[in-house]
Amino acid sequence: TSETVGAADTTGAPADETPTIHVLWINAGLSCDGDSVALTAAMQPSIEEIVLGVLPGLPKIQVHWPLIDFECGPVGGADTFIEWFFKGERGEIDPFVLVVEGSIPNEAIKPEGYWCGFGDDPETGQPITTSEWIDRLAPKALAVVAIGTCATYGGIHAMAGNPTGAMGVPDYLGWDWKSQAGIPIVCVPGCPIQPDNFAETLTYLLYQATGAAPMIPLDDKLRPTWLFGATVHEGCDRAGYYEQGEFAESYDSPKCLVKIGCWGPVVKCNVPKRGWMNGIGGCPNVGGICIACTMPGFPDKFMPFMDEPPGAKLSVSGSSVYGAVVRKLRQVTGKTVDKEPKWRRTGEKITTGYRP
Ligand code: SF4
Ligand code: SF4
Ligand code: SF4
Repeated sequence: TSETVGAADTTGAPADETPTIHVLWINAGLSCDGDSVALTAAMQPSIEEIVLGVLPGLPKIQVHWPLIDFECGPVGGADTFIEWFFKGERGEIDPFVLVVEGSIPNEAIKPEGYWCGFGDDPETGQPITTSEWIDRLAPKALAVVAIGTCATYGGIHAMAGNPTGAMGVPDYLGWDWKSQAGIPIVCVPGCPIQPDNFAETLTYLLYQATGAAPMIPLDDKLRPTWLFGATVHEGCDRAGYYEQGEFAESYDSPKCLVKIGCWGPVVKCNVPKRGWMNGIGGCPNVGGICIACTMPGFPDKFMPFMDEPPGAKLSVSGSSVYGAVVRKLRQVTGKTVDKEPKWRRTGEKITTGYRP
């Protein structure tokens, strides 16, 4: 059917025992759609396995996701893509998980116009802003999930001097916000997300919705703890070179990349451990410095990229002899870069330093 993606139930379970859970996906924050595209590479599980219900115990899922949905077009009938979002607002699809991709611009800082929107208001023909959709749908959602560093913490669009006042979903709704089911905002950062990190988090929430999993464990930045509890450095293939004090001076070397800009020692990300696609890749493993794309302070606190990070000299010279001192230094630096810049917030004044 072209009515929706993932409507089929192949679990063999009687339909009345498996309530349908809808996923309403808004990719119309300030976004490049990179997280949607990345998710198509997920393997553990794949997006096909999620939407076709082939995982044991998973409820019946209908995903309303612009990237792969057959439906398109404005409001005007039950078959149009955007109608599902109005159904969510009216309480006609329950439960649903709201996924937000892209940062949320501040629509309150200007007298007219809009920064970004998703579908049109059938009454006026005018776009409905992304923040308006969040206002309408978040109170009805089983859970709100922010996908990618833009949606979680603001990301690239929320850099110093930006004109939109962009911020992450927790900045917009409030860091203490909880859904009607008592679930905090779930943040899966990355620019883009590591595909399996998101597929796994979404699957966890679907199992939680059926009562098969306990409350999702999140850290103080609302990240799943089992995915973001370790640093890049702790999982990096090059850590042996670091420990031996052997450092790359150029990108054609297999040695540790810290002197040419790797932030791995203070960045929370499992990509070197997990690989990128089907276990293969993972930034420093394959020659790319870690630019800290998962972090709340990204990008401002890590720029200019490709410069030696502050502390790298001490970290390098003390890698074996002064391990305890270096660990302490890393903790201090880690706390700083694990915080968002202070201008990412709501309000009627732009605080990014933007000058027209
Ligand atoms: Fe694109 Fe990165 Fe933002 Fe995702 S986090 S929408 S990949 S810029
Ligand atoms: Fe650590 Fe980066 Fe060196 Fe890997 S390349 S060992 S993450 S500093
Ligand atoms: Fe981003 Fe660094 Fe993780 Fe690569 S290793 S995905 S640059 S945080």
